[in-house]
Amino acid sequence: MLIPAGKEFKYMKEQPKVVVIGAGFSGMAAATSLAHRGFRVQVLEKHDKPGGRARSFSVQGFTFDMGPSWYWMPDVFDKYFGQFGKSTADFYKLQRLDPSYTVIFGPDDFMSIPAQMPQIESLFESLESGSSKQLAAFLKQAAYKYEVGINNLVYKPGRSLTEFLDWKLLLDVFRLDVLQSMHQHVRKYFRNEKIIKLMEFPILFLGAMPQNTPALYSLMNYADMALGTWYPQGGMFKIVEGMEALAKAEGVEFLYNQEVVSFKTDKKTINQVVTATHTFEAGIVVASADYHHVESKLLPPNQRSYSEAYWQKRVMAPSSLIFYLGINKRLENLQHHNLFFDEDFEPHAREIYERPQWPSNPLFYVSAPSITDATVAPAGCENIFVLIPVAPGLEDTSAIREKYYDLVMQRLEKLTKQAIREHVVYKRSYAHQDFITDYHAFKGNAYGLANTLKQTAILKPSLKSKKVKNLFYTGQLTVPGPGVPPSLISGQVVAQEIAQAYS
Ligand SMILES: Cc1cc2nc3c(=O)[nH]c(=O)nc-3n(C[C@H](O)[C@H](O)[C@H](O)COP(=O)(O)OP(=O)(O)OC[C@H]3O[C@@H](n4cnc5c(N)ncnc54)[C@H](O)[C@@H]3O)c2cc1C
Repeated sequence: MLIPAGKEFKYMKEQPKVVVIGAGFSGMAAATSLAHRGFRVQVLEKHDKPGGRARSFSVQGFTFDMGPSWYWMPDVFDKYFGQFGKSTADFYKLQRLDPSYTVIFGPDDFMSIPAQMPQIESLFESLESGSSKQLAAFLKQAAYKYEVGINNLVYKPGRSLTEFLDWKLLLDVFRLDVLQSMHQHVRKYFRNEKIIKLMEFPILFLGAMPQNTPALYSLMNYADMALGTWYPQGGMFKIVEGMEALAKAEGVEFLYNQEVVSFKTDKKTINQVVTATHTFEAGIVVASADYHHVESKLLPPNQRSYSEAYWQKRVMAPSSLIFYLGINKRLENLQHHNLFFDEDFEPHAREIYERPQWPSNPLFYVSAPSITDATVAPAGCENIFVLIPVAPGLEDTSAIREKYYDLVMQRLEKLTKQAIREHVVYKRSYAHQDFITDYHAFKGNAYGLANTLKQTAILKPSLKSKKVKNLFYTGQLTVPGPGVPPSLISGQVVAQEIAQAYS
């Protein structure tokens, strides 16, 4: 039963109490959606604050978002807050970035992507004659995929193929080029190497190579170029704060510093969730912590849905080596989002997916939110976040991190033509070991499971346990996949499944 937005909160006594493990985007979305339907919900979170991979920290006057920095698909956030009678503006102020981002192809070879379509078309024409018409055709199809994909497919729970047995949807799925790769698809439209790199860039968010990513995901190009890149003033953590406030208003109870260590089960049903200090009664459990961790560390072998061999065969999205840097001067030649594509992506991609190893000449990404937002750095300073995508499961030592710090800083200084290292007043690195310690991340993954064709929809780890009756999963390792918008959707989908099962 749904409680209309704005009405006083009242628990439906007959419904079982829900315990949600983890206060990331997916856990908070699941908790809020369930509370809104009248369930009593408690969230148990290992850390002292919500957000999971999107937490933030403040030091020496700098405020760093720890994970996500790209606010894409604003409609997904609007829809999320809208269903509770709220809007994003009730919680944070959004600004559309222009340029959306800059791609650095080499020395003096920077390409800024404007926010407005006529300027994007002119940019394409300057690189390849006739490409603006091709772009219009490409984006028309991508818009259709976005419409079907984001408004319909991603809200499917991925339990069975029958969910897709609606004729229109079936027809749509085939029109969406699910069987062609993004690599082929982009090359059908464009020849210019820079355009191709630009069109393939959003695929990096999905954690797989363009060769292995279905062309369905050209919907990401629509998200990029038509819907735009946005920024919540104060940083991405403002979304987390907004979601937590909304959840509390819906009646969700958050308990921090509560790491779940085991379950008490009876006849394939969890009755209690155990943390280091407390035991919580549970009628339903929603696990938004990393799927592999819950399965392999919190459940005994006979209650696991998947074997260790199954997990070892999954294609994980990359991990990351990140540097959070406070700089005591303003920097030149950088925008808010900067993609350093001055090296060839193919060898780097092979070092992530085919022969996992530390990359020889990595591509990297720099976010400088202080360019847009004066609140995230002291006056006259810059806040930068440097990210190198790397294979999960690699050896992670401070010596290796330092080697890559030197490598990227050298390139960053050379390409942006300024001294940076001697102006670093705060430096923190973050990689595999931190993802494992902080989130119990399988192989130290940053973004969960890659969205390859063989790991899409019903082929992903199920959002309902196959062995434990009242255990559900949500988050970036189940449907629909990695990223903030998909994690938000994942929480809503699991809530809908639970509401159906327990109504
Ligand atoms: C560096 C980085 C950059 C990214 N950039 C972007 C971006 O720009 N745009 C974008 O859309 N997406 C981005 N992403 C992806 C996005 O952040 C994630 O997909 C999303 O935040 C995942 O949310 P989640 O709820 O599935 O998982 P999590 O955020 O990992 O939440 C799980 C929660 O469970 C808690 N937990 C774990 N184990 C236990 C336990 N035993 N007991 C209690 N609690 C537990 C964890 O502490 C955590 O709070 C990025 C991710 C990273 C890491």
